[in-house]
Amino acid sequence: MDYQPTPRTTVRRLPKRGDYDRATVHAILDAAFVCHVGFVAGDAGPVVIPTLYGRSGDTLYLHGSAASRMLKTLAEGVEASIAVTLVDGLVMARSAFHHSINYRSVVLFGKAAPVTDEEAKNEALRVISDHISPGRWAEVRPPTQRELKATLVLSMPIEEASAKVRTGGPVDDEEDYALPVWAGVLPLRTIAGTPVDDGRLQAGVGLAKSVAEWRR
Ligand SMILES: Cc1cc2nc3c(=O)[nH]c(=O)nc-3n(C[C@H](O)[C@H](O)[C@H](O)COP(=O)(O)OP(=O)(O)OC[C@H]3O[C@@H](n4cnc5c(N)ncnc54)[C@H](O)[C@@H]3O)c2cc1C
Repeated sequence: MDYQPTPRTTVRRLPKRGDYDRATVHAILDAAFVCHVGFVAGDAGPVVIPTLYGRSGDTLYLHGSAASRMLKTLAEGVEASIAVTLVDGLVMARSAFHHSINYRSVVLFGKAAPVTDEEAKNEALRVISDHISPGRWAEVRPPTQRELKATLVLSMPIEEASAKVRTGGPVDDEEDYALPVWAGVLPLRTIAGTPVDDGRLQAGVGLAKSVAEWRR
């Protein structure tokens, strides 16, 4: 089922690239793990903060220090707008004007609420951890009561959401196809580098499965 477009999620600029399909929105949220959270921080005014997230069904989870201004402000029920962006390629045209970018992005609006129940909080943290590095939660020591207390976890319903996607090559003006200028797409993606062992690894500890198979 699609998300219902609202006045603030209606894609007006190049609307054919807009998409309200739930599966499309979820797939983009699942492919990325950093979002940018916009909110008004009281007298300080508008601010946009980058942060990690996880998704479970139609819920987005954020977490961090219980002292975080962003999390404390959102926990008060302040309206937020959250953007997630994946850059897939540079679109190089024959003219400066027609250059573009291939991307998949999502914009959400809503209010977050603190997750206070201990079991639900642990589960939300598992969701965030496994979203970033699938399987990591099962490999590591779970949080203690003290660590849980020091962590603020927020849930935000994914209700007001839009996706916008651009794919394909450049679209030049007809007369520019005669120009001797290279045009096409330079694909871009995030790839994992070679893992670096921590200096204090216990003898015989091999690479964790979640690292070896990072987001494959
Ligand atoms: C990729 C990424 C993932 C992150 N994931 C998390 C996460 O999951 N949980 C979490 O709690 N934090 C995360 N952070 C850190 C986060 O961006 C904030 O710095 C942190 O949450 C503190 O928020 P705050 O509202 O208390 O910041 P404050 O310290 O109150 O912010 C005050 C001012 O400091 C500056 N500032 C704050 N953060 C940044 C920043 N990241 N870059 C540049 N200037 C900044 C801004 O000018 C801001 O207005 C992440 C950062 C990055 C880049």
